Amino acid sequence: MDCIFCKIINGDIPSYTIYEDDYIKCFLDVNPKSNGHTLIIPKKHFNSIDDIENEYLIKIKDKSKDLMKLIEEKLGADGFEITINKGSLQIVKHFHMHIIPNYKKNKKLSIEEVFAILTK
Ligand code: 5GP
Ligand code: ZN
Repeated sequence: MDCIFCKIINGDIPSYTIYEDDYIKCFLDVNPKSNGHTLIIPKKHFNSIDDIENEYLIKIKDKSKDLMKLIEEKLGADGFEITINKGSLQIVKHFHMHIIPNYKKNKKLSIEEVFAILTK
């Protein structure tokens, strides 16, 4: 299957991975809306919110809380937009949750800088 996120999971496409286990992978969005914009994906391919299994959705929901805490502590975010796109708004047809931090003051950092801060 020609799925860009499946290629990220199997390592064919590199990613700035913040966390992964047997079920999920969390990595920085390549075109971030703000510093620390992260995607959480299931390691099993589901097209969208319509077909993802609850077992995976719960693991994604639980990890989103840990990630937001990390981004608050390390980058100083003061709020978050959590987005799950579907239909015409979903470009990549492998389920994903966006974690998009908000900041009072936001000096734009490079993805490399954000990755170094979140993983050290
Ligand atoms: P959506 O499908 O919800 O509209 O958004 C897909 C998201 O995936 C976009 O924010 C886009 O920047 C991100 N994205 C697309 N291709 C890649 C990639 O190869 N690597 C990473 N890290 N993010 C990607
Ligand atoms: Zn996929």
